[in-house]
Amino acid sequence: MKNFVQRAIQKIDQLDSKQIVDILKSQANDVEMLENVLESIHDGVILTDGNLVVNYANSNCQKMIPMVRKRSYEGFPLSRIIEDEHVLRYIVLAVHDRADELDNEFTFQRGDKVQTVSVSVFIYKSTEVKNLSSYVLMFSDVTEHNANEARMRRSENLASMTTMAAGVAHEIKNPLAAMGIHLQLLKKAFVRKESLTYDDAQRYLDVLEEEISRLNSIVVDFLFAVRPMDTRLRLSPICRTLDEICNFVEPELHEHNVSLTRDIATSLPKLEFDENLLKQALLNLIKNAMNAMEGGGRLTLQSRLDGNQVLIKVIDTGIGMDDETLQKIFEPYFTTKASGTGLGLTVVYKIMKEHKGDITVTSKRGEGTCFTLSFPVPKSERLVLDGPEKEVEFEA
Ligand code: ADP
Ligand code: MG
Repeated sequence: MKNFVQRAIQKIDQLDSKQIVDILKSQANDVEMLENVLESIHDGVILTDGNLVVNYANSNCQKMIPMVRKRSYEGFPLSRIIEDEHVLRYIVLAVHDRADELDNEFTFQRGDKVQTVSVSVFIYKSTEVKNLSSYVLMFSDVTEHNANEARMRRSENLASMTTMAAGVAHEIKNPLAAMGIHLQLLKKAFVRKESLTYDDAQRYLDVLEEEISRLNSIVVDFLFAVRPMDTRLRLSPICRTLDEICNFVEPELHEHNVSLTRDIATSLPKLEFDENLLKQALLNLIKNAMNAMEGGGRLTLQSRLDGNQVLIKVIDTGIGMDDETLQKIFEPYFTTKASGTGLGLTVVYKIMKEHKGDITVTSKRGEGTCFTLSFPVPKSERLVLDGPEKEVEFEA
């Protein structure tokens, strides 16, 4: 199509008026066909010139975003036809390449339904005419897609809960069996002697007490791991929380011959976090680190800014892990300790998910381990770091 027109343009002075009319007719046909294609897709499409004046808009646009009702939008600047100021602002920022960090999904109330629409802006630069650019705006209804994702997440959660429940069932079998055996022994001793002194019964009662406390910790840890967390995210600096954690654990570390190095950057951006949950996550990591350094060692708590993330590292000089152990440590109930529940890291992982963050680990057997928690820097804080936001002029 395009080649044919380009060849015709090159020879235009040799063509007679009928041939030119034929070419225009065929062009009109092509345009009509393309318009039909754009009309038939589910998305809303608007084509504009470089000043955001509309060249074409398909009729589905009106179903996607709030627009003034018109038969044709051709020739109108976007600012006069798009009624939602957030969408308009997003588009203006996007054409100036300043929308990277912004959310491109918008929700609208449509009757009794809430519709979520994603807005994409593509720039089209003409190869024929220098400095001539135009924009393609696409509006897609992602309500169903998002609902499916939420459904997937829920079923993922359910699946992991089933694994956890199976784990609990497995875990409580041993203490229950031990309790059963010791009750039987106690009963036999009772029958044999008819009456028992506390001394006679003590060793059975001790085992029962121990196993009950083990059952209790399995159930408490399980509930903590599966219960939806009551997460209260607040935008605040993390330095103070990290210092408090250090102060809290230092005496116990000292008792275990572990020295503590605080390597906490002071000029970090604020983070959105739940203070109690962050403390819980760090305590779990520090407890593990301490367990890994039985004969003493060094524990380092470090915080750093890394691009759009803040990294908090818990580094130990303990026994480390081999690759096989490393693969399994986040699985619920995986433990290498006689009295471990194997839920500590499961909980840390869950806490990091609540913060839209991540946890990674590197370790070397015999040398030590480094757990890294990464938190996204909130958008508002990124702007502060980048300098004040410039006003973008709307040209149309
Ligand atoms: P638990 O501490 O009850 O065993 P966790 O989920 O906290 O459960 O940890 C799971 C396993 O990961 C531990 O049993 C241990 O084998 C390994 N692990 C965790 N942290 C460390 C560490 N800092 N150094 C060495 N091994 C670790
Ligand atoms: Mg642990």
